[in-house]
Amino acid sequence: MKETSLSAGKLQFRYAKRYFEEFISRRQKFSELIDKVETPSLLMDLEGVKSKYVQIKYHLPEVNVYYAVKANDHTEVLRALAEVGSGFEVASSEELSRVLSLGVQPERVISSNPVKPLDFIDYAYRVGVNRFAVDSFPEVDKIAKIAPRARVYVRLTVPNEGSEWPLSRKFGVDVDTALDILEHAKNRGLVPIGLTFHVGSQCNNLRNWFIAIKRSAQLWESARRRGIKLLVLNMGGGIPVRYLQESLRIEDIAYYVKGLLRKYFPTPPYELQMEPGRGIVGDQGLMVVSVLGKAKRGEENWLYIDTGVFNGLAEALGGIRYPTYLRKEGELKEWVIGGISCDSMDVVAKNVFLPEPEAGERLFLLSAGAYTTVYGANFNGFPPPKVVCL
Ligand SMILES: *Cc1c(COP(=O)(O)O)cnc(C)c1O
Repeated sequence: MKETSLSAGKLQFRYAKRYFEEFISRRQKFSELIDKVETPSLLMDLEGVKSKYVQIKYHLPEVNVYYAVKANDHTEVLRALAEVGSGFEVASSEELSRVLSLGVQPERVISSNPVKPLDFIDYAYRVGVNRFAVDSFPEVDKIAKIAPRARVYVRLTVPNEGSEWPLSRKFGVDVDTALDILEHAKNRGLVPIGLTFHVGSQCNNLRNWFIAIKRSAQLWESARRRGIKLLVLNMGGGIPVRYLQESLRIEDIAYYVKGLLRKYFPTPPYELQMEPGRGIVGDQGLMVVSVLGKAKRGEENWLYIDTGVFNGLAEALGGIRYPTYLRKEGELKEWVIGGISCDSMDVVAKNVFLPEPEAGERLFLLSAGAYTTVYGANFNGFPPPKVVCL
C-alpha cells in the first residue's frame, strides 16, 4: 500500500477511535450494551437528543424548533423531544398520529413538504394542524378545497451547494413565483403567513443561509408591497453533524444566522422557525453491526456486515461516511465494506481503514442516528437494525 494512503488511514482510524471512546465514555449504559445487543442495532441516546434540542434553543432562543420527524421517527425519540417542548414537522398521517399520540398539541405541528397527500391534509386539518407549505398553484387549490381557511407558507428555492444531501431541484420556486403563489392562496381564501426554504441536508456551507435569508427578505418586502403581510420565517433544516469529517457547529451557524437576520430583517418576523432533523438526532446514534465474512477481490479487501444500504445505511449511496471503528489493535488495512444483501449496489463504504477483522466481531458506526433505520426495508429478507433507546 502507498505510504500516503496508509498515513491517511491511520488518521482516519484514530479519528474514529477517539470519537468512539469519547462517545462511550460519556454514556455508561452504552458501554454495558455494545457487546451484548443483537446486531444490527441502532443505540439512541435520548438524553443526548434532548440536549441537542436544548443546545439549539440556547444558541437561537428566538427560534421555534420543529423537529423533522422523518430523520428518526422512533416513538421514544419523539417522546423525549416532546418532553423538552419541541415542535414537530410531519409529512404523513402516520407521522402525525404518532406525534399526537404523545399528547403533543396540534398547534406545535407544521407540515413543510410542499406536495402532500390529500388524505393527510384532510386528517391534519381536522385534528387542528393548520400550517402547510406550498410551492405550486395546484397545491394551493388542493389545500383550499380540503382545508378552506388553512395557513400556508411558500417554499423558496435556494442554493444547496456544499450540502451532502441537496434538495433544491425537487422543491421550491423563485421569488416572483412565490409571490404569485401567496397571492393565489389569498384569493382562494387561504391565509398566506410566510415562507420557508431548505439549504440542503448536512449543510456545511454558511453561504447557503446567507443567500436564503437575503432572498427571503426580498420576498418579504415584495409581499408587503402587494398587501400581503408575512409573519413566519421558516429556515428549514440542514444543521450538519460530524461524520468522517468535522462539520459546522451550531454555535457558528447560530451566530451567523442571527447576524443575517439583524441585517435583512431589522423588524423581526412574528415567528422564526427551524426544522432540524439530522442536527438533533444524527450524532446521538451508534450502530452496532457484525462482520459476516471477508474476501480478497483483486487488489481489494472486502468485508461484509449484517446490514446494508437497503436495510438502514441508504445514505452511504449519497456519500455519507460513518466513522467506523473496530475495537482491536493491529496493522491497518484498507477495506471495502459490503452490505448483507446480494445486490451489487449494496456497498456501504470504500477506503475504510481498520485492523484485520474476523467474522463475528463487531463494528461500530458513529453518527448513525439520522436517516438510517427510517430508510430501512426488508430487502432480501433482512430487517432494518433494531432501535434501542437508552
Ligand atoms: C427533511 C426535512 C427537514 C430536515 O432536514 P435536516 O437536513 O435533516 O435538518 C426539514 N424540513 C423539511 C421540509 C424536510 O423535508
